[in-house]
Amino acid sequence: MSKQMVCSCEDVTVDDIRHAVAKGFRDVESVKRFTGFGTGVCQGKSCLSAVAALLAKDKAQKPEGLLPFTPRPPLYPTELSVLASLPVDETQAPVGGMFEEMSVFPPVLRPEAPVPKKAKVVIIGGGILGLALAYNLSLRGEKDVVVLERGYLCAGASGRNGGGVRMQWGTSANIELAKRSIELMGRFARDMGINVWLRQGGYLFMAKTKAVAQRLERNAALHNKHGVPTRLLTLDEARDIVPGLTLKDAQAATYNPQDGVIFPWPFLWGYANACRKAGIAVETFTTVTGFEQSDGLVRKVKTDRGDIACDTVVVASGAWSPEVAKLAGVKLPNEPHRHEILSTEPLKPFLGPLVSVLDSGLYFSQSMRGEIVGGMGDALEPAGLNMGSTLRFVSRFARALTEQLPNLGHVKVLRQWAGCYDVTPDNSPVLGRTPGLENMLQLSGFVGHGFMMAPAVSERMAAWMTSGASDELFTRFSLRRFQEGKLEREDMIIG
Ligand SMILES: Cc1cc2nc3c(=O)[nH]c(=O)nc-3n(C[C@H](O)[C@H](O)[C@H](O)COP(=O)(O)OP(=O)(O)OC[C@H]3O[C@@H](n4cnc5c(N)ncnc54)[C@H](O)[C@@H]3O)c2cc1C
Repeated sequence: MSKQMVCSCEDVTVDDIRHAVAKGFRDVESVKRFTGFGTGVCQGKSCLSAVAALLAKDKAQKPEGLLPFTPRPPLYPTELSVLASLPVDETQAPVGGMFEEMSVFPPVLRPEAPVPKKAKVVIIGGGILGLALAYNLSLRGEKDVVVLERGYLCAGASGRNGGGVRMQWGTSANIELAKRSIELMGRFARDMGINVWLRQGGYLFMAKTKAVAQRLERNAALHNKHGVPTRLLTLDEARDIVPGLTLKDAQAATYNPQDGVIFPWPFLWGYANACRKAGIAVETFTTVTGFEQSDGLVRKVKTDRGDIACDTVVVASGAWSPEVAKLAGVKLPNEPHRHEILSTEPLKPFLGPLVSVLDSGLYFSQSMRGEIVGGMGDALEPAGLNMGSTLRFVSRFARALTEQLPNLGHVKVLRQWAGCYDVTPDNSPVLGRTPGLENMLQLSGFVGHGFMMAPAVSERMAAWMTSGASDELFTRFSLRRFQEGKLEREDMIIG
């Protein structure tokens, strides 16, 4: 074994890169995620070309496929206190953003072989929901399944989120789904052989206004009815849990010690590996371009690598679901909304829970690598598939974070990125059958909490699809509810 270093910030060696390639990660973005190269202090300035050269030398990727990963601002690590001092016009909506994410994946990354000619179930979207559904179908004996993903695994929101998992919700349905998901997440490493860094340090919610404080109190009582041990905290109790927290303007706080954080990426790899082992095709860099339909059914899914005849098609395309459904003439009520997020240099462990100020949508937690990872909603963000990063966000976030934890002012931000929430009018998902196109199933609209819902929802959906037994989840959250005005409003949305 050699220890020839490629990325000294993150201790990634030549052998680590070769190991990633042997595992099937061959494009630069995927190798970055699997090994962590390029995610340290220098953000790839000293290692990107070395990795590209190695992939070329080992013929892991065609030279024209050796594209650099998306650069992440800031250009240099920058202190939160500096960012917090920048002026922000809170009356203006955010515009544009630096380093717009690649929205079209170059054809050179597309596998050369054709896709399977037919499959019983075609799932569109290789995010957490599509992959978890495919995996759960395989557990129930349904392995004639193809998952189509237009980019690399982790290209969508599932590779860009905060990794928060919590039972503190405002509806019974979400509380029960989250409880089940967290139970399954606790078993994931054992069942799938991959570490997902689940750390149950709790969620500490804070309210700054009376209305939000009442919401927290009401929902804590609902949690207790479901056996979730959420409790209202005095401000002193909250400070005992997070030393140094100012709780500025706080009117109420709640805490559930069973909530926590996970590292999202290995979930996707774990599900994808298990699917492939079961014989399910997970086709990356494959874009769905249309549908062949007749007699109220989808007959074929069209892709840029060929058509696939199918019995059932599932739209699990996250924030792109309205775009995909539109190809079949189906209108979804979902709207994509950019959400930005950042990560700092690593610190010694000091922060137990994920902390969130529900009024402003500020949230932050400490990852197992020690980084502070956090984001914040922006009420003025317009709808759109925008994944660019803004100075406005880092500045607003830095101000809100250092207001609550002033000691973090000297900590440097290493990188920021963005993803899209998949927002529905009532903050609840779109599930089940499509009126007028019975064999198209919907699995989208999870706003900013789809990651934590995926294990439980996909388990229920696979059972519903394979057993034929009814499940109220797929009628209660169906598309029909928007026509019938039966909305299910969730009020514990961060952001
Ligand atoms: C900044 C941020 C923070 C978040 N924080 C949390 C959190 O703490 N906890 C939590 O539970 N959730 C969180 N979320 C939400 C969570 O990430 C999503 O709800 C979840 O990942 C959605 O999964 P998905 O599989 O539906 O979508 P995605 O992961 O977006 O997957 C959909 C996939 O479909 C693919 N696709 C699109 N069009 C096509 C096409 N035509 N053909 C083929 N494939 C296509 C896309 O490339 C994409 O990979 C956050 C989201 C963001 C953006």
